[in-house]
Amino acid sequence: MADLLDTLKTTFGFSAFRGVQHQVIDRVMAGQRTAAIMPTGAGKSLCYQLPAVMLPGTCVVISPLIALMHDQLRAAEAVGIKAATLTSVDTNQAETIARFKSGDLNLLYAAPERASGDGFRDLLSQGKLSLFAIDEAHCVSEWGHDFRPDYRLLRPLFDRFSSVPRLALTATADEHTRADILTQLGISEDGLIVAGFDRPNIRYNIAPRAGTTRQISDFVAETPGAGIIYAQTRAQTEKLAAQLALNGRPTRAYHAGLEASVRAANQAAFVKSEDMVMVATIAFGMGIDKPDVRFVAHAGLPKSIEAYYQETGRAGRDGDPAAAQLFWGADDFARARIRLSEIPEDRIAGERTRLSALANLVETGTCRRAVLLRHFGESPPDNCGNCDNCLNPPARTNLTELARKLLSAVYRTGQMFGVGHIEAVLTGQSNEKVLKLGHDRLSVFGIVTGDEAEMVKPVARALLLRDALGQTEHGGLELGPEARAILKGEAEFAIAIPPRREGKRRRSNDQ
Ligand code: ADP
Ligand code: ZN
Repeated sequence: MADLLDTLKTTFGFSAFRGVQHQVIDRVMAGQRTAAIMPTGAGKSLCYQLPAVMLPGTCVVISPLIALMHDQLRAAEAVGIKAATLTSVDTNQAETIARFKSGDLNLLYAAPERASGDGFRDLLSQGKLSLFAIDEAHCVSEWGHDFRPDYRLLRPLFDRFSSVPRLALTATADEHTRADILTQLGISEDGLIVAGFDRPNIRYNIAPRAGTTRQISDFVAETPGAGIIYAQTRAQTEKLAAQLALNGRPTRAYHAGLEASVRAANQAAFVKSEDMVMVATIAFGMGIDKPDVRFVAHAGLPKSIEAYYQETGRAGRDGDPAAAQLFWGADDFARARIRLSEIPEDRIAGERTRLSALANLVETGTCRRAVLLRHFGESPPDNCGNCDNCLNPPARTNLTELARKLLSAVYRTGQMFGVGHIEAVLTGQSNEKVLKLGHDRLSVFGIVTGDEAEMVKPVARALLLRDALGQTEHGGLELGPEARAILKGEAEFAIAIPPRREGKRRRSNDQ
């Protein structure tokens, strides 16, 4: 059998493996079931493409999006791999089926909807299989941010061909999702390979919104190279693109509401350009191979830390310095919390955890990279030297006294009220609810005055993030495991003072 490295060079034109690629491929070649968690740009495709070329039989790749499959197909065919997709939009299905049966395919891409069906299983029994590759494997987990029920239906297919090795691939998995991938796909724990998630060349910057258009436009003006701005809605995409175009930089928009031909043309122009700004919804970016994207900016809160990591990960894949800039607003969180009430009961806890992880990332006064990497289960150093907080440490203010007052108010009111009521009690508002409950007679009534008053909510939020406060299922505050140390004076409580909002003039530009 040809040597791995030979094939790597001759077929793919690469001189060496990157990161965990070798480790993953060794396991696959040895027929061992494997789950590889590798960041965007780490080279996941090679992990199944190389074995697909070397092993006898066909590697079946499960992939969630037709567009993604077709991108992969083009890339595979470009290096001479025999590959095909079997999707509803392919007109050559009969040919593909015949090629599979005669052993003329290294790779066969299919969507989970098709792959989980009886017809597909029958088809697979009429050819020879080398490997099942499950791309975007986090879709199998309800805990994940992108759950696709059809991924859950794949297990019987894999089990029907139980001697065929499985390789699950994803860029985005917290510990819970990882565990889910292993159980759902029948992969043992020692089959889990996690690549380092750090992208040291990306500089992370996160700031509160204060006039989005102006902030983005300033950011673009001082950041050379081609980059992506993620907007929240189609309308915002168009509006921002129009504004930015005024600055003379080539600018295009991309969202699902544009004609397919316009989208394709804009994408192609972006891939070729060295200074274009693409203002897009998150529909843009998946499967785009442009290593020299110099910045990714978000005009609003991404869906999760995973999504943030994946979206910012599109910058700097060539290893040169790149910037990730996020502008967020408290209203983003408010909207996300409202959405919480609209999702199925059994997923609320997961979504809430995801949201507070995001809150922690945007509100932290400590190293952003460290927060990100810890989220992915790593143990990074405390300072990266390449994020806003490391480069310009924010001032911190000691609010231990206020935190204690707040915690005791939560305790004395019975651990069932939201922050609004706690604030009313602490600041001594004799409103109807306070009077009716007799909370004006508590020792904590009115003990917060002056400047402290406006810090009650930020402190409550920070206490929630630190597990000193928890939330009941009805949204009431209760003491959390970390409360004790603060109440007893054993732990200090300081928070980063958010950068001062810009003046009124700029605010009038806000979206
Ligand atoms: P992912 O799916 O993990 O985001 P891709 O499989 O799209 O990453 O690979 C990202 C880029 O890295 C592609 O341009 C690919 O050709 C390149 N690449 C992958 N493996 C190697 C390698 N061993 N050496 C050099 N470049 C590689
Ligand atoms: Zn840092």
